[in-house]
Amino acid sequence: MRWLDKIFKGSNHRISEGQYQGVFADENSVWDMPSGSLDGHAHSGNEDLDHAIALSLSEEEQRKANNIGGSSEVDDDEELARALQASLDIGSPPRSNQSSIYPSTHAYPTGYKICAGCNTEIGYGRFLSCMGAVWHPQCFRCHACGEPISEHEFSMSGNDPYHKSCYKELYHPKCDVCSHFIPTNRAGLIEYRAHPFWGQRYCPSHEHDNTPRCCSCERMEPRNVQYISLDDGRKLCLECLDSAIMDTNECQPLYLEIRDFYEGMNMKINQQIPMLLVERQALNEAMQGEKEGSHHMPETRGLCLSEEQTVSSISRRPRIGGNRIIDMFTESKKLTRRCEVTAILILYGLPRLLTGSILAHELMHAWLRLNGFRTLSPDVEEGICQVLSHMWLESEVMAGSGSSSHGASTSSGISSSSSSKKGAKSQFEKKLGDFFMHQITMDSSPAYGDGFRAGNAAMLRYGLKRTLDHIRLTGNFP
Ligand SMILES: [Zn+2]
Ligand SMILES: [Zn+2]
Ligand SMILES: [Zn+2]
Ligand SMILES: [Zn+2]
Ligand SMILES: [Zn+2]
Repeated sequence: MRWLDKIFKGSNHRISEGQYQGVFADENSVWDMPSGSLDGHAHSGNEDLDHAIALSLSEEEQRKANNIGGSSEVDDDEELARALQASLDIGSPPRSNQSSIYPSTHAYPTGYKICAGCNTEIGYGRFLSCMGAVWHPQCFRCHACGEPISEHEFSMSGNDPYHKSCYKELYHPKCDVCSHFIPTNRAGLIEYRAHPFWGQRYCPSHEHDNTPRCCSCERMEPRNVQYISLDDGRKLCLECLDSAIMDTNECQPLYLEIRDFYEGMNMKINQQIPMLLVERQALNEAMQGEKEGSHHMPETRGLCLSEEQTVSSISRRPRIGGNRIIDMFTESKKLTRRCEVTAILILYGLPRLLTGSILAHELMHAWLRLNGFRTLSPDVEEGICQVLSHMWLESEVMAGSGSSSHGASTSSGISSSSSSKKGAKSQFEKKLGDFFMHQITMDSSPAYGDGFRAGNAAMLRYGLKRTLDHIRLTGNFP
């Protein structure tokens, strides 16, 4: 499928975790064991140390709760010192960690210690030594939740310590589809996929577990949201549904707007070409009925017909029942040939901006035919049609970002176009417009993508009129 091209592997994100030897010590304890001498004793025995720390912390809590100072504090400290000493006596080595620092009389010859948290003297009592500084136990706090860190292991980000759980909550990416933490791969790295435009991040597994994507914006359906199922199997997200155009009548004002857009560029289309909204199957059938093999995207969303055909178009806006489209009425229309172009067909159910950009593209095919252009190579033909599609989108997104041009002007007398119905464009609709432009510019196919880029460069350099004149003469971009 086409969107596969657009998926890139998210940057690998390795979570670095600091670990400290949570050594609490009374400053009167004697620590004269050079840490180097512990090397070579690397067998397990850390449980004792852990236990000592846990013990000291529960005592700390008690002491705080009882608000007891003085002698009992000394007792606690003596007990802790004994526990630590005992754990060291049985040869328990500290875990190797470059950042761990052992309180020692050498490091603090004066015995005067300033807590890195509150900047006051630690004085008598327990302190914690890590990250190259000393701390009151209650001052060594998690940067996220602000609570003291009492666990043996913690995580670091920059110079800030975090509870492991808080760190994970903050920095371990969560999947936008299943809402779980994105799992690590065999190499221990967090590997995810991300949509290049929307930034939606998800577990790689969702690419193979039939998670639906919106047929308009390409975003995956999150587990806690239900997309709408269109009759022909496509799925539509609720935000795209918001401005979706569902039937042939509803689309007429937009069709007029785009014809006006062509007229505004001195490319008036005089012929009354019928424009019909159709289902996917009707579109594919009509495409097969065309003699001239036209070049189309893997998912065809519009067609400029030149043969006489009978096409079934959507005549009445379907209703939404549950998360399905129901009560859709179609009507067979015999298209007779009045000019080079018999009709323009557009896939139903797409947002107004996407419908319009497809219309602008198909109208350009029509304009070329009606103006006697020869059969062009796919990259020139599709490229120039995409240029017009992009230009129209740009004009819409620009208009939408300033003061609303819709609603106030009633040039056509019809005010049922989807976006004027709701007044100014929503934030999402603008973003969607940006996305459709992004899709056109980033398209990797030779006809649509390379064709657009060449055509757009020519248009920017020589203007549209000169570009079209050159195409008429040579069949190529200038
Ligand atoms: Zn402090
Ligand atoms: Zn925390
Ligand atoms: Zn997931
Ligand atoms: Zn969508
Ligand atoms: Zn085309």
